[in-house]
Amino acid sequence: MSEKRFRGDFIGGDFVAPAGGAAFASRDPATAEGEVVLEAVGDVAAVDAAVAAAREAQRAWRRAGLEARIEALRAVQARVPAHTERIAQAITAEMGKPIAEARGEAASIAGKIEGVIAQLPYELPPAPPGAPGEQRFHPLGVVAVIGPFNFPVHLLNTHVVPTLLTGNTVVAKPSELTPLAGQRYAELFADADFPAGVFNLVHGLGDTGAALVAHPDVRGVVFTGSYDTGRRIRQATFDQPFKKVCLELGGKNPAVVLDDADIDQAVREILLGALLTTGQRCTATSRVVATPGVADALETRLVEAFRRITPGDPKDVTCFMGPLASHGARDRFVQQLAAARAQGAEALVEVRALAGGAYVTPSLYRVQGGEATLAEELFGPHVSFERAADRDDAFRRAADSPFGLSASLFSADAESWEAFYDQVPAGVVNINRSTNGASGLLPFGGVGMSGNWRPAGSLAPRNATYPVAYMRADLGARTPYAALDGLLGENA
Ligand code: NAD
Repeated sequence: MSEKRFRGDFIGGDFVAPAGGAAFASRDPATAEGEVVLEAVGDVAAVDAAVAAAREAQRAWRRAGLEARIEALRAVQARVPAHTERIAQAITAEMGKPIAEARGEAASIAGKIEGVIAQLPYELPPAPPGAPGEQRFHPLGVVAVIGPFNFPVHLLNTHVVPTLLTGNTVVAKPSELTPLAGQRYAELFADADFPAGVFNLVHGLGDTGAALVAHPDVRGVVFTGSYDTGRRIRQATFDQPFKKVCLELGGKNPAVVLDDADIDQAVREILLGALLTTGQRCTATSRVVATPGVADALETRLVEAFRRITPGDPKDVTCFMGPLASHGARDRFVQQLAAARAQGAEALVEVRALAGGAYVTPSLYRVQGGEATLAEELFGPHVSFERAADRDDAFRRAADSPFGLSASLFSADAESWEAFYDQVPAGVVNINRSTNGASGLLPFGGVGMSGNWRPAGSLAPRNATYPVAYMRADLGARTPYAALDGLLGENA
């Protein structure tokens, strides 16, 4: 890999060595002991400097106009091919994502920029027909973008791009598990000579994120991460109603397979849904619910498939599933599954922790529904398998979760699709395809504990703005109001 040196925070267009703060390190989960990838420092005091730089740059950036902002983002886009491999290597080293998948994530930075530029006029339209004026979308100001480890670059970029294009400036914070990936992302902006202070990045642990979220000059927060952290952010901003807080949180996503499903298709999509990124996607399939006519065959097929798949070296370009993101995540995951078994879940395919890294094999448990541990987001390659009495029971079971991010139905029947959409609350509802693989050209976000209904994806530009009704009258025009005319006479 290319040089790995911690360059500090990216503030005002330069990398700035931290003056102090807490040391932390990212570690390669594909190594037995968790070899150090990057030693970094999180300096909470840097948050003030980064927000000040972003605030200072915001007015000029907003006034520069959309064309100038597009040009600046296109300069970043043009540099993506030269950075893709460096970014991908960092993602794989720090969180174990298979290199082919990591390359896709890195390359998607460019496509996202193109996509948002194309979508802006559609997502932020001037006014509905017949309106007596315009609607405009005003930037919020300084926006904090806080990212998780599982898409360490994409989930910064997917919010940074619409936020910048709409005239805001940004302070981003990558996950503490992936500081090198975050640094690589900032290097892209540095290399593109992006206007100083418009994009900033600070490293650190949760305390850095907390300081950023609470900062009074931060007018918007786009957070992607766990429910628990999202909840803390809501609490921390309770007394700042002026702050727009957008939360993209976890999921516990069901795939319902009805008797009339194409079983080959269902099996393949469930495998992709459950095991891509080693089950560490917010949209990962973690529950399968089947109706009686298909349940036996589906269970047999899933057991066979789960037994065949073992994790491999994420640096190998043919790797399908790598390790979990950290050794700690592996230990937690294995303990949670032990708790689920103690609550009555029956292991059809048991989890095994493998040597040489944070590797676990895919596991499949037969459950009755309601096992407390399996109601939580486990964030690993695991599926719980439930048998339903009939279609209604299947939909009821699918809906029985406090989360509501994505849900899939496998069926040939259009009426069943409508019933599924009606009865299973989720922000992403898929028919005959896996629960993951969301499109940036459509809204993305969840209901229930999965988020606060501020969808990202195509609607992200709205998160980064507040709407303004913009009405005007001709110079000298009089607003008719008979009762006032009666009082003031005809010259009024
Ligand atoms: P996490 O909540 O542990 O951390 C996310 C980020 O929040 C990190 O950068 C962390 O440093 C920061 N943070 C921690 N405490 C904070 C605080 N008090 N204030 C502000 N920031 C704070 O999440 P994770 O483990 O990195 O990511 C996995 C989670 O993210 C899963 O729950 C997954 O479902 C979710 N996720 C959601 C989506 C989505 O779009 N809905 C996408 C990907 C991941």
